[in-house]
Amino acid sequence: MAYNFEKIYINGQWQDSLSGQFIDVENPATLEHFARVPEGNEEDIDLAVRAAHNAFETWSKTELSERVGLMKRMLEIFESYKDKIIELEVKELGAPVSFSVQSHCVYQFTRTRSYIECSTQLPLEENLALSTVYREPIGVVACITPWNYPLGQVVQKVIPAILMGNTVVLKPSQHTPLTAYLLMDAFDQAGFPAGVINMVTGKGSAVGDALASHPLVDMVSFTGSTKVGSKLSQRALESIKRISLELGGKSPFIWLPGADYDKAVGKLFDSIFLNSGQTCTAFSRLLVPEADKEMIEKLLLKHLPDYPVGDPTDPSVKIGPVSSKAQFEKITSYVKLGLEEGATMLAGEVPTDCSNGYYIKPVIFTNVKNSMRIAREEIFGPVLCVITYKDVDEAISIANDTLYGLNAAVFGNKTQAMEVAKRIKAGNVYINDAPRDVTAPFGGYKQSGIGREGGYAGLLEFTQPKAIFDHSTF
Ligand code: NAD
Repeated sequence: MAYNFEKIYINGQWQDSLSGQFIDVENPATLEHFARVPEGNEEDIDLAVRAAHNAFETWSKTELSERVGLMKRMLEIFESYKDKIIELEVKELGAPVSFSVQSHCVYQFTRTRSYIECSTQLPLEENLALSTVYREPIGVVACITPWNYPLGQVVQKVIPAILMGNTVVLKPSQHTPLTAYLLMDAFDQAGFPAGVINMVTGKGSAVGDALASHPLVDMVSFTGSTKVGSKLSQRALESIKRISLELGGKSPFIWLPGADYDKAVGKLFDSIFLNSGQTCTAFSRLLVPEADKEMIEKLLLKHLPDYPVGDPTDPSVKIGPVSSKAQFEKITSYVKLGLEEGATMLAGEVPTDCSNGYYIKPVIFTNVKNSMRIAREEIFGPVLCVITYKDVDEAISIANDTLYGLNAAVFGNKTQAMEVAKRIKAGNVYINDAPRDVTAPFGGYKQSGIGREGGYAGLLEFTQPKAIFDHSTF
């Protein structure tokens, strides 16, 4: 491996940032500052964008088979970094090793493989009545990603963008930038042409903003908060760049009357408590029949000890610290707010001390009204709101009464659950124990975003249609 955390990657070279400044990376479990990355600046971004712009001319004309061949080679090298990826996610994010292996590492290989396979099956040329429609790459894509799935969010953008013939400038989150270095290294070792992929680390307000507004950037693919996504889009739209946004959520999980609730708890807790609740798709609102409230509260308490909190390097631990002091303070303020708003704390406590790591025990609030701020705003921590409903129509109306529409789940009789799923305004809906389909589109309704990632839709997102009217008479 040739990467160096103190460099940025531009035009096929690891080089110093022109800023000469660095950002420390903190381990949220120990508070140790164990690495540092460059605090890139506008000049770095300009160099990276120009490199991507120059590389596009040739890369966009390569055959798909050539791009696929290089990507397969990249994946092979990347998979050999498995142990290092897991070690870094445990350290930079505080994600327990039990969760990191699959979710932060192996699943990202699966996604990459899926994009490669889907790309070879995509209809990139379509004959219409009097024309042929070609799917062409867009140009230079700025990929801006958050800290909560450091590698996952990068893979979701960079792999399909490059497979479809675009070139990329990546800005990973300054809080968890390290695994992206391993990915850059794998691209480098695989022999991708210089400039096809570039990475500049740094703060959103400086580097992210410079990327989103650079005149040679053709598309901005952003994952992060709705607030930043909205602001950044306004900058990007000044020069009519294409925009793809993967934003926040406040996802509902409806337990239908008569369901085997005991079987649903694992899916619920995995979603809202693993990764310390820092998952955009987390089921943060549990909607239960009013008549079953007490029975369900007992069930939740019965299963909570299955989710121990502690040192993320301990394989028996399921919940590590939250990712930063800012996160600790934000979640704490929401826990206090929940009590002020009149919710009942069924489990958990108001966090007080973070001098030994940013640990927060899972919190379950009951007697929550959907009008409360804890039920409306994205807390992005291990905080579950339990809300009761009188009948299924009311459950659907509560589920849809949100600014967001990223994810949802329904548990109960399969036929009824299907009917309910069709009435929910969200990009993804799970029924009972159904697993995720990596080839399915992922993305949000309403303020959860614009566009889709994953599988075929995720590849097409990085193309634009060109119609050639080819039925000429001579
Ligand atoms: P964030 O919006 O603060 O930051 C995301 C990225 O944008 C980071 O790289 C950051 O440095 C950069 N950024 C910040 N301010 C910027 C600015 N003014 N201009 C340009 N770039 C800027 O989000 P976060 O705290 O890193 O991540 C958490 C959020 O991400 C949550 O809201 C979560 O729901 C969302 N998220 C969504 C998905 C999804 O697929 N829908 C997935 C993961 C996370």
